[in-house]
Amino acid sequence: MKRIDGKQVAEKVIAECKEEIAALKERGVTPGLAVVLIGEDPASKVYVGSKAKKCEELGIYSKKIEMPIDATQEEVMQVVEDLNNDPAIDGILVQSPPPPHIDEDAIVRAINPAKDVDGFHPLNVAKLALEDPTGFLPCTPHGCMRLLEDAGIETSGAEAVVIGRSMIVGKPMALLLMGKAGNATVTVAHSRTKDLAAVCRRADIVIAAIGKPEFVTADMVKDGAVVIDVGINRVKDASKKSGYKLVGDVAYDEVAPKCSAITPVPGGVGPMTIAMLMKNTVIAAGRR
Ligand code: NAD
Repeated sequence: MKRIDGKQVAEKVIAECKEEIAALKERGVTPGLAVVLIGEDPASKVYVGSKAKKCEELGIYSKKIEMPIDATQEEVMQVVEDLNNDPAIDGILVQSPPPPHIDEDAIVRAINPAKDVDGFHPLNVAKLALEDPTGFLPCTPHGCMRLLEDAGIETSGAEAVVIGRSMIVGKPMALLLMGKAGNATVTVAHSRTKDLAAVCRRADIVIAAIGKPEFVTADMVKDGAVVIDVGINRVKDASKKSGYKLVGDVAYDEVAPKCSAITPVPGGVGPMTIAMLMKNTVIAAGRR
């Protein structure tokens, strides 16, 4: 069983970014990423902080805009508009989830698609479906593809089962796997799928993006399968100082012995997401 080390692959991606940034700087271009945080959600604060830290490490100009929890839709739209017009900014993201009174879809649609480094704008979603390389691939599924590639896992002709159909992970993951990048035969399973265990057992490659701790159990995975665990779930753990630990959507201890390769949580897909965000920011700057 190969334990796919997401931290190591992410470091490789970061090293590639560093080279590309050095070349951009020679052209007089410093990539810039703006992150908008509305409210005080602790997990979002951690994510925004680590994105800013990564930018600093890479020499990407980063702009953090913190807005109060009662910021209005109009105020957020204005911030996005200002960033669209800011020539120092190549990438814009509004940290999800915003407070409930904010219309997140409207915010995403307001971002200039050329600065939509999350790849969530409808134009970029369409470009992904069309396999048009002038868009941006969403960071988490793109990171999963890179993990498979780096681990030398053949996706072409493989039976892949993606569990989850969200716009952030499941759906774009399925598109990438079924497209020319993956050439896999893809089944997308979701909350209404009948006999999920039997569906999953067909898979040479299982992508778990459900959002339920340790949901995928050993009986759902065939011998020799590859398992990519996208889940990040906080579960109570009294032995930890923080009072919780992170687990994936896969019951790692029982599933791993059956796999030919598997990603751990933490240290699997998580580090890839931020690395791919840096990559997209560099790509955006290169298109200036
Ligand atoms: P989501 O809640 O938007 O989607 C979950 C999907 O799982 C849905 O499509 C739903 O149909 C499916 N599902 C729910 N219950 C099911 C069941 N019983 N059987 C089959 N399918 C079921 O979640 P998301 O945004 O796609 O995120 C999924 C997980 O990935 C979460 O744990 C999230 O924290 C994690 N995540 C990790 C990263 C990362 O960087 N590693 C990035 C994004 C999301």
